[in-house]
Amino acid sequence: MDYEKLAELLFPHVTLTPEDLEQRYPPRTLKEGARVTRFAPSPTGYLHVGGLFGALTDVMVAKISGGVSYLRIEDTDKKREIDDGVSAIIEGFDAFGVRFDEGVTGFGTEKGAYGPYTQSKRVEIYHIVAKDLVRKGLAYPCFCTAEELTQLREQQEKEGALIRGYFGKYARCRALSLEQIEEKLAQGKPYVLRFRSDGSEDKRIVFEDLIRGKIEMPENIIDEVLLKSDGIPTYHFAHVCDDHFMRTTHVIRAEEWLSSVPKHLAMFRACGYKPPKYVHTAQVMKLDDETGDKRKLSKRKDPEAAVSYFVEKGFPKESLIEYLLTLLNSNFEDWRRANPKADAMDFPFNLKKMGASGCLFDLAKLTDVSKNVISHMDAGTVYARIAAWAKDYAPDFWALFTRDPAYSTAILNIDRDVPKPRKDLAKWEEAPGYLSYFFDETFVPENALPEKIAREDARAILEAYCKIYDENKPKDEWFSCVKSICPDLGFCPEVKEYKKNPENWKGHVGDVSTVIRVAVTGRTNTPDLCTIMQCLGRDRVLGRIRAFAASL
Ligand code: GLU
Repeated sequence: MDYEKLAELLFPHVTLTPEDLEQRYPPRTLKEGARVTRFAPSPTGYLHVGGLFGALTDVMVAKISGGVSYLRIEDTDKKREIDDGVSAIIEGFDAFGVRFDEGVTGFGTEKGAYGPYTQSKRVEIYHIVAKDLVRKGLAYPCFCTAEELTQLREQQEKEGALIRGYFGKYARCRALSLEQIEEKLAQGKPYVLRFRSDGSEDKRIVFEDLIRGKIEMPENIIDEVLLKSDGIPTYHFAHVCDDHFMRTTHVIRAEEWLSSVPKHLAMFRACGYKPPKYVHTAQVMKLDDETGDKRKLSKRKDPEAAVSYFVEKGFPKESLIEYLLTLLNSNFEDWRRANPKADAMDFPFNLKKMGASGCLFDLAKLTDVSKNVISHMDAGTVYARIAAWAKDYAPDFWALFTRDPAYSTAILNIDRDVPKPRKDLAKWEEAPGYLSYFFDETFVPENALPEKIAREDARAILEAYCKIYDENKPKDEWFSCVKSICPDLGFCPEVKEYKKNPENWKGHVGDVSTVIRVAVTGRTNTPDLCTIMQCLGRDRVLGRIRAFAASL
C-alpha cells in the first residue's frame, strides 16, 4: 500500500508536518523537575467537587515544583456540550481561588503560548498528526456503517469473543486496498480514521501510576477511532496530541480513565511521543443517607456535588480548599497545626501522600472546618464576605446589613478578637438568622423562658435590672452588677453556692442573666451579652426589656 498516497488522498488540505508543530510548540524552558499539569474538563456548564479536587491537585503539583498548570477545554464531544459551558467552570474556580497559570480564562478568552487551549480550535493540529500516522501506515480509514458495527458486535457475542471491538480479524477495513478506498471516497462514503493497533492479545503492559504504583494491564489491541466522520478527534487522540504539544509532564485525572491507559500509551508510542506520567485520583464519595453505604458523589442525587452549591450557601473559599486538602494529602492536618496562619496554597503538596481509594466527602466535617476558618477571620473580613454573599443571595438582609458598616462590623467583632473565638458561623447563609436580633426589622421577641423561672420572678428580675442598668459599665463589671441584684430576688449570686443547697434558692445568677438575655435578644444562647447591649444602645435595650416584661 502506498501510504504516502493515501495520506494525500485523505488530507489534501494538510501541508504542515509534526516537525512544524514541534517548532511552534517548543519544549518549555523550566527548571529541572518542574511539572506541567493540566485540568481538562468538557464544557458541560457544571463543575463537580471532584473536578475542583483534581484541579487543586494540578495547580498545587505545578506550583510546588516551579512548573505550570493550565486549563484546557475538551469540547470534542458535542453531545455533552452546552452553550457557553465554560463560564460556570471558570466561575467555580474563581470563587474558590484556584488559578491556573495558562489556558482558557473565560468564554472565548485564554492566555499562554501553547494554545489554542480549546480542542475544537485545534483541529488543524490533530489533522497534521493524523496525516502523519496514515503516512506511516499507523492509521487507516474505516467505512463501516453503524449497522455493520452492530452486526460485528452481535457476531462477537455469538462467538463468545473475550475482547469486543474493532480489531484484528474483525477489522475488515484494515485490508482495503488503495483502489477500494479511492472508490469509496469517490462515492462520498463517510469514514472514520482508525488507529492501526500493533498490540497482541497475549501481551501485557506495565506502567507506573504515581499514586497507585506499578500497574499491569492487557495490551491494547483495538483499532480505536482517532477522527470521527466529521473530522473531529476522539478524546483519546486529542489528548495525546495536546498533552504532547502543550508539553504536559503529569496527567492527573479521575480514576475512570485508568482503563484507557493502554490505548493512550499505544497512541503516544505510535506518534513517537514520550508519554506523560500518569496519576489517577480517587473518586470523591459520600455516605448514602438511606443505605449508609459509600457511593460516588452524584451530580444527579447530591446538590453538594456541584461547586456552585458552596457558592450559594456561602462557604468561604478558604474552608472548602482547606477541607479538600485534608482529603487530598494525609499530612495536611499536621502541617496546618504547625502552620496555623499560613496560606493553604503554600502547603508542600505531595502526590505520594494521596490515597488511591475513594475519599469520603463529609458535609459535617466541612462545616467544622469552616467554623474554625471563619473564627480566625477578623471582623472586617467577615463583614466584607457576608456583604458580598448577601448582595447576590439575600438582598433584603444585605440592605439592613450594609446600612451602617461600622455597626455591622462591631457586632461581628463580639467575642472574635479573643484567644478562643466562638465558632458559630460555618457559612454566610447562616448570617441573616444568626444576626437577626441586631436589627429591629428582623428581631423576633421571644416569650418562652426556661421552665424553672416563674413569670413573676422574670418580671422582678427585669425591673431590678432596669434600675441598675448602666450602658457605660465595662464588660468585666457587668456580671458583678447582675450578681448584686440576685439576693433580693431570691437567686443565688454564686453557682457553686447554689449547687450546695438548691432548695434554698429560686435559681442562680445564670438564670437571672438568661432572663435578661432572652428579653434583649430573644435567645438563650448568644455571644457576650454586655457587648451586645453596648452595640444595641440604651434605648433599644430598655425598650426590648420593657416590652418583654409587659408580654409576660
Ligand atoms: N475531558 C476529560 C473529562 O472530561 C478529561 C480526561 C483527562 O483529564 O484526561 O473527563
